[in-house]
Formats: sequence, C-alpha cells, structure tokens
Amino acid sequence: MVIEGAGLTVTPGFIDAHSHGDGTILLYPNAESAVRQGITTFVGGQCGDSPAPRSDKYYMRHFWGYDAWYEIDHHTFYADFVQPKQKALEVLEPRYNVKFDFFTFDGYLSKLENMGISANFVPLLGHGTIRAYSMGPKDANRIPSADEMKQMKAYLKDAMESGAWGISTGLDYVPSAYAKTPEIVELVRELKPYDAYYNTHWSKTGLRMKVPGHHYAIDGIREACEIGLQTGVKTQLSHLSSGYSITPMPDPELDAAAARATLRVFDAYREQGAQLAFDVIPNTSGGFQCIPYLVMYFVPWVRMSGGVEHFIENLQSFDYREEFHEYIMSASGTW
Ligand SMILES: [Zn+2]
Repeated sequence: MVIEGAGLTVTPGFIDAHSHGDGTILLYPNAESAVRQGITTFVGGQCGDSPAPRSDKYYMRHFWGYDAWYEIDHHTFYADFVQPKQKALEVLEPRYNVKFDFFTFDGYLSKLENMGISANFVPLLGHGTIRAYSMGPKDANRIPSADEMKQMKAYLKDAMESGAWGISTGLDYVPSAYAKTPEIVELVRELKPYDAYYNTHWSKTGLRMKVPGHHYAIDGIREACEIGLQTGVKTQLSHLSSGYSITPMPDPELDAAAARATLRVFDAYREQGAQLAFDVIPNTSGGFQCIPYLVMYFVPWVRMSGGVEHFIENLQSFDYREEFHEYIMSASGTW
C-alpha cells in the first residue's frame, strides 16, 4: 500500500500514559478514539480504579458509569460508592450492552483477550477498587485492620500474577483518599518482587485537603515521592501540576517559578535514589470533563429544586441566591 505522506509526519504509535480506557474498552473494543489519534498503547487502571477484581458488591467509580449513578442510587451529592452488585448490574448491563461476567483480574484480562481489542493495554490494579471490596462501603475513613490489609495484598498478588503492571491510587477519591501513607507504603512494597510500578493520582485537592498535614498540593507531591523513595518502587505521578497555587491569577513569571519549585522536589528525591516520573494533561486550563450544559455544575440544586425550570425560578429570589452562593464558597458540598 502506498500512502501519500507529503506534509504529514510518520511516527511510531503513541503511548497514552494515563488513560481510563480500561473500563471503556469493554464497550468499545476497537478503541477508535485512541487509534485515530495514533495511540496504539494505553496505560489503564488509573486513579485507584480498575474494573477488576469484582466481588458480590459493585464499586461505582468508573467514569463511563457516571450517567447511571442516579438510576442506581438516588442521591443529592454522591451516591454510595459501593452498591449491591445485583442492583448496579441491572441498570448498567442493559444500558451499556456489556456483561460483567468476570470476577478476578485474570478473568477480566481473559475477557478482553477473547473479545479482541485493537490497542495494546498496560493494565494497573486500582487501590480504590480493592480497598472498597476489602473494607466495605461504610466507615472506610480509617486504618485497615490486619485482615483487611491481608485481603488487599491477596488481591494485589493475584492481579500481579495475572499480568498487571502495578497498582494505582486515587488520593482525592473515596476510598483511596482515606488511606494514610503507611498503608500505601505497605502495599506498594508488595510490588517489589515483580519489578512493577506505582502510579498515583497524588493528593491534590478534595477530600484530603481536610486532613491535617495535607493542605497543599506540594505536600501530596512530596508524599508520592516519599513513597517512591521508601519502597524503592518506580513511581509515576499522574497529571502533575504545580504544587503551589497562587491567587489571584499570577504573573507568568510567578507561575514559572512555582513550576520550577515543584520540579525541584523531584530533583531532590531523585538525588536520594527515588525512581520518579510524571505525566501531565496537555491543556492550559480545566480538566477532562465535558460539560455540555452549564447547569450541570448545579445538578444537586437542580435536583433539590425539582428540575431546571424550578431551579431558575428559585434563583430569582435574593435569599436563595445568597444561600446558594454561600454554599458554593464554603466548598463543603462540591461533587
Ligand atoms: Zn486522576
């Protein structure tokens, strides 16, 4: 085949170092959206979430299922993140035309192999997933018991022996966010015999902002580097951004200084022998979400109002607006 390539560029296949395609690949095995961008390999199982293993419960933190959350469990801000399996699958399976007929990590990989997928897949085990299944949905904001730790290690061993490349944490998300540093260190150490790696959505915002000692993004970056150093396991920081937030919107020089100061933390840990790397989201603002309607930012209030029209009606009233404003500024119920 001859391809007219004038004005084009020939490259090897790209590797997407941070993908949540491990869930969507079940829905779109040809991974068209990746392949059409030239991505031939993706690293999935990020931010503490992987589709496997499964249990008799259903852990709900995969991105493509968001639309179904409300159907599965009516809620104002957050649905319970672990649901009875039956209840979740009754909504998810017909809606997405997918069968969650696997149980172990090996079962999940075999399913993908049998389906046949178009891209190369580097699978990671999600710490949030195994923590949810080992510790349960309630009262997860605590240190795991010895038995729960044992259970998590068993999940980890099983995944590693099935072909996982490592483990990921999502330290801004429930339930990974509840894990203290020693828990993560203990689990990451288990990767040592496999020459595997630790991939972390480090603690940046959200839940752990309320944990004493973790008020700043830079602390989350240091924690990740420290885990890499203490365990001697290769560590990848996901979607790195500056460890220092400067308000109001800083002069570009200040911004650049903050970035340099952040990178100096890596240099210091590397000098001590930590094997560290990071990836960044190549955009200049915002995140990964597509929000087609502005009103989607206000979903909880729309629900409480009983629909968009009633919400708009409520906004006409001064005291409602005041209350609404106060609530947003308190950042206590963001979703
Ligand atoms: Zn993340």
